Amino acid sequence: MTNNMIETVKIKKILNECDGIKTLIFDRNYTNIPKPGQFVMIWVPGVDEIPMSISSYKNNGEWAITVKNIGECTDSIHKLKVGDYIGVRGPLGNFFKIPQETNKNIFLIGGGIGMAPLRFLATELIKMGRKFKLILGAKEETEVIFINEFLDYQKKELDLFFCTDDGSFGEKGVTTDLFEKIIENLNTEEIKNTIVFTCGPEIMMYKILQICEEKKIELYASLERIMRCGCGLCGLCVLDPIGLLVCNDGPVFSSKSLAEIKDFGQYKRDFSGKKNSI
Ligand SMILES: Cc1cc2nc3c(=O)[nH]c(=O)nc-3n(C[C@H](O)[C@H](O)[C@H](O)COP(=O)(O)OP(=O)(O)OC[C@H]3O[C@@H](n4cnc5c(N)ncnc54)[C@H](O)[C@@H]3O)c2cc1C
Repeated sequence: MTNNMIETVKIKKILNECDGIKTLIFDRNYTNIPKPGQFVMIWVPGVDEIPMSISSYKNNGEWAITVKNIGECTDSIHKLKVGDYIGVRGPLGNFFKIPQETNKNIFLIGGGIGMAPLRFLATELIKMGRKFKLILGAKEETEVIFINEFLDYQKKELDLFFCTDDGSFGEKGVTTDLFEKIIENLNTEEIKNTIVFTCGPEIMMYKILQICEEKKIELYASLERIMRCGCGLCGLCVLDPIGLLVCNDGPVFSSKSLAEIKDFGQYKRDFSGKKNSI
């Protein structure tokens, strides 16, 4: 099977992460191992096919996606039951490249549903015995996802930082403020060795890019755009002015590319291809 063929899979387990967010777990016959940051196209028969990050992969062939209910197709995914079938195409796109150098000071910064691909990345880093700092932000406590899993990570002496807009969990404030506060205490060598992986609201990632540019910190951000095909045909996810496609060239982009993408933090295309302010 190539990674662009639809495979029909049976939903094995459904977890309610929080109000409006569910994780769907299924087994696949697909034998290539996906990498953190890659996504799959999920086809709900009779409804639509939409992109979803892989939120977990286990060596026994168990995959997971974590879905926020925001519209027609995600709502139909939320109505599925264990034993129902969906179509899965992928893994597609590029991925978060874990640096070989073990002295890297790795930050994972996630906002809301953006934690989905970062959770897969966190699991891989733990498997490799790599240390990292995780900054997780959400609007309020009820929207903080994967929390028990992350608190378990803390036992492995990882640095975890939580924040919510209303202060109901962790610090009151946003991820970017926390990030700025943490890096203020780093010395020049630590800053030089810092690498940031982020996914979340584009406004958040745009601010992180500005902070990283100022401090000359290496950054990789996973972008979301509407896409129909997921494989470079429809052109809906094109980024101006350099014409990169989120599906084929991304979804993960380096700070160098992000600085050249004028759409980043400014515009997103709708289903007709028209650009709208973020
Ligand atoms: C690479 C990639 C990975 C993604 N990973 C996840 C994930 O792990 N979990 C998750 O819940 N969602 C993820 N998304 C977003 C998800 O694909 C959209 O939320 C979904 O397509 C919305 O479909 P819908 O039919 O439910 O909503 P619609 O009814 O189509 O749209 C509802 C609203 O959301 C907007 N919208 C639709 N699609 C997107 C999109 N792709 N990006 C931004 N706004 C959109 C529409 O303009 C509209 O305002 C990802 C998107 C991409 C491109």
